[in-house]
Amino acid sequence: MALVYDLHSHSTASDGLLSPRELVTRAKQFGVDVLALTDHDTVAGLPEARAAAGEMGIALLNGVEISATWNRRTVHIVGLGIDPTNAALLAGLAQLQTKRRERAEEMGRRLEAAGFANALAGAQRYGDGRNVTRTHFARYLVECGAAPTVGDVFHSYLRAGKPGYVKTEWAALADAVAWIHGAGGRAVVAHPGRYDFTGAMLRAFLADFVACGGDGIEVVYSRCSPDMLRNNASYARQFRLRASLGSDFHDPTVPWVELGRLPALPGDLPPIWN
Ligand code: AMP
Ligand code: MN
Ligand code: MN
Ligand code: MN
Repeated sequence: MALVYDLHSHSTASDGLLSPRELVTRAKQFGVDVLALTDHDTVAGLPEARAAAGEMGIALLNGVEISATWNRRTVHIVGLGIDPTNAALLAGLAQLQTKRRERAEEMGRRLEAAGFANALAGAQRYGDGRNVTRTHFARYLVECGAAPTVGDVFHSYLRAGKPGYVKTEWAALADAVAWIHGAGGRAVVAHPGRYDFTGAMLRAFLADFVACGGDGIEVVYSRCSPDMLRNNASYARQFRLRASLGSDFHDPTVPWVELGRLPALPGDLPPIWN
């Protein structure tokens, strides 16, 4: 039988709700054979995930999801098969973690001004307090009664033009790819259908990604419609990118996103990992 891959997932080292060990345990329960832990701008969860994966007999790929800025827009580049001790990668991630910290402080100030007391401390309670994402603020604002769901909080408070949004210049695309390659990994465009890009912008982005030496594109992910899957597959063919698939799992209480529960990649596409 074909192996079950899930090459995009999050733990409490970023905005996931399960610890690395809990995540690996759940992946095993759901029949995943090869899991990548890809936390936002950090590799801190990998040692615990590695230990759990060894005990449970599941293959783990060291991963990371790097926040990058292309044409003043945020994009996510997944690194797979990285050496998490690589000095240049760690230095790059440290820069991003500093930006995250500064952004979180500014978001906290703005959300306090919008009436949410102790917003930063509240957000920090939803994680280990070190690697604060917008998801952590969203969970705290749900707790405050700002909106019923995390998605609603993003819509009303955390996207561009809303009170809690702070524009951030993340890594340059070329740097993100270079850090991943320098650490021996493969660079993959995360969830191409989730950017608010026109088709022309997405093609320009993919052309720049290829020019930077990028390796792959996520063709299959959660809530990816058959139309989106077909589009992503044709981008993979057009730009000669290897195909990846990953759930982008964060939260076991969200029923429509589960580890390892994804449609198969189209058979003609070379997979990013085998
Ligand atoms: P950040 O990197 O801190 O800006 O946070 C980005 C994360 O927020 C993404 O990885 C998602 O997990 C989450 N996110 C972004 N948009 C939404 C949304 N509309 N609903 C729920 N979660 C979202
Ligand atoms: Mn996330
Ligand atoms: Mn992402
Ligand atoms: Mn992700």
